[in-house]
Amino acid sequence: MSHLIQVVVHTPAHSQVARTLTYRSELPLTAGTLVRVPLGTRELLGVVWDDHTDRASRNSDQGIPAEKLRSVAGSLSDIAPLTIAWRQLITFAASYYQRSLGEVALAALPPSLRDLNAQQLARRLRRHAKAADPGLPNDSCTFNQLSLTSEQTLAIERFQREDGPFLLFGSTGSGKTEVYLRCVQSVLSSNATAQAIVMVPEINLTPQLEARFIARFQPLFGDKSVVSLHSGMTPAQRLKSWLGAHSGAARIVLGTRMTIFASLPDLKLIIVDEEHDPSYKSQEGARYSARDLAVYRGRLEGAKVMLGSATPSMESWHHSRPLDEGGRYVRLLMPSRIGATGGLAITGGALPLVRRVDMNRQLKGCVISPPLLDAITQRVARGEQSLVFLNRRGYAPVLHCTDCDWKSQCPHCSAYQVFHKIDRTLRCHHCGYTERVPRACPACGNPDIAPMGRGTERLEEHLADLLASVRRPNSVSALQPEGEPTCIARIDADSTKLKGELQARLAQVHSGEVDVLVGTQMIAKGHDFRRITLVAAINPDGALFSSDFRAPERLFGLLMQAAGRAGRDGDISSHSEMWLQTFHPKHPLFAALKRHDYPGFAAEQLIERKQAGMPPFSFQALVRAEARTQAVAQGFLTAASAAATEMRDAAHLTQNITLYPAVPMSMQRVANVERAQMLIESPSRTALQHFLTAWQTVLHSTRQQPVGQGLIRWAMDVDPLAI
Ligand code: ADP
Ligand code: ZN
Ligand code: ZN
Repeated sequence: MSHLIQVVVHTPAHSQVARTLTYRSELPLTAGTLVRVPLGTRELLGVVWDDHTDRASRNSDQGIPAEKLRSVAGSLSDIAPLTIAWRQLITFAASYYQRSLGEVALAALPPSLRDLNAQQLARRLRRHAKAADPGLPNDSCTFNQLSLTSEQTLAIERFQREDGPFLLFGSTGSGKTEVYLRCVQSVLSSNATAQAIVMVPEINLTPQLEARFIARFQPLFGDKSVVSLHSGMTPAQRLKSWLGAHSGAARIVLGTRMTIFASLPDLKLIIVDEEHDPSYKSQEGARYSARDLAVYRGRLEGAKVMLGSATPSMESWHHSRPLDEGGRYVRLLMPSRIGATGGLAITGGALPLVRRVDMNRQLKGCVISPPLLDAITQRVARGEQSLVFLNRRGYAPVLHCTDCDWKSQCPHCSAYQVFHKIDRTLRCHHCGYTERVPRACPACGNPDIAPMGRGTERLEEHLADLLASVRRPNSVSALQPEGEPTCIARIDADSTKLKGELQARLAQVHSGEVDVLVGTQMIAKGHDFRRITLVAAINPDGALFSSDFRAPERLFGLLMQAAGRAGRDGDISSHSEMWLQTFHPKHPLFAALKRHDYPGFAAEQLIERKQAGMPPFSFQALVRAEARTQAVAQGFLTAASAAATEMRDAAHLTQNITLYPAVPMSMQRVANVERAQMLIESPSRTALQHFLTAWQTVLHSTRQQPVGQGLIRWAMDVDPLAI
């Protein structure tokens, strides 16, 4: 007798293949078992699914007589079945983000499981099983327990007492990481199989955090207790971490957003550090938010959830309003910075003084205003460091001919090619198209084409000129009694392309070798620089008047984070400063920043959002369409929108739903592809979900019609971050 088995395999996002496929198997296979199944001429990895988690899968292959069904090729019996909770998480994510179950389920598994053939995998697993001894706690290296600040103590006590979800609202340098460590420790030591997920936004920040977690927890829970998961790892490393988590041997899984889909048999805690960070939202495939899924998964599995930030997202901040106003998260406050000298638990390290330079009063074309230059010079002379921040890489954003007005437009995109002086190229940052810099204007032959505007490369060069005669105090070399020249370093995507380059530059900064660090937002986040006493934002105005309603939130967060890099050492924090060069010194955003007043800023933002009916007071989705022409891209969206009114039960489904007209995206053309989008909005999340699910079918069928011809692709983004 053979059994009929429902299996989820990877199916293309918009294929109309049923959610699960039916196979025959000689043995009964429990749901969650990993199997290999034939599909067409290939053999694919699949997961046995069942009706408990997925009602819709029942009878999915109706019509195929049982004897025609193909058989499961084999099961990966060395790997325990995935739990029902994991399958429910996947089912939810697929349905909420409007993608196919197969795509989400298979993307959530380590690539090696999909890509290796049966023999290769068996070999890999045997090797892993041999090494799977959890390792003994190694108590030879016990750590010094810091004595906690009273704010940390209170936060941890509430975490232990209450269920959460928690929003840890702690200033930069308030000691949030120590709170995470203690919360993990308290959950893991009270239950011998309990596991925790700790997420960070950037791969670059994982090694730092990993080192701290390993130092703290390997002595307590064994060498195998801490593993990482992020896209910078090799497939073999990822498989190893994944199996560690899945088998329960790893107690702590650290990583980037993909970690939210890791399989953990006894998950009891999820921590999301810097929860406001946009990189928690995936920008391709299923556009999931790992932060939002963390909250969902916590509820599903009875795990506590802690989100942490100095500048929470408006959504999380709003959810953590007082209970009697409808709040759902517990807000934990740590407003004070740690004045860390010699590990003493005293709070009161000062936040930097914020100074605004009114650029309307500076000479035209001035890049570094004289008072800022003065302040930087003083720091160099005192042996302190400055961080100068400009969110634009390259030498200049555009090359320009003053005679005929030619500009270095990318031939394939609605964007300029950026001038990179180092290798004398013009590079499009959107499609990658690269050319040598022309000797003369391609339009009129004028040899005098000039860079317009400024990126980090040019800023670095400019600062080197300005600081050429400034000497730093003489530290190493007795040969230069008058001091050494200023050392300037740049950190951005260009200067850190090669492996290890970023680590090397950061080490230079930490060692004190660097006096002035120039960079993009890469340097504004997370790093614990000790000797920086000045942070300057050269041109932060761009985001003030952006059409994206989240731009002010992002700018405020970025500037707060950047300010947080200054004065982290209590000894010198008393004179640390954050400088803003702006044409709008009176802008309320900068005023709130000067007061270090996130709650004040957030309150204003939320009032505006409420009046305008924006998230978190409404819910949004975007459908994006790509084609060779705008007309086709927009035509598809418009037709699908019109067809929504003809859906079965349309009157009910479109109630409370606003479908906006199709418009070109702000980056309208990339690599010769025209892009359009349509916004869908509703005051009710449920109403939006029901509508989107029904409308999917309409979008699929619209694509099959004449109006869908020439469409390259379309995709839905639920809870989009950028409009
Ligand atoms: P945040 O993540 O909130 O910006 P960190 O966790 O990086 O802050 O803490 C800032 C610094 O304070 C770190 O160097 C950390 O080791 C130190 N620190 C944290 N808690 C304490 C404490 N209780 N006593 C002394 N130093 C502490
Ligand atoms: Zn010209
Ligand atoms: Zn381009």
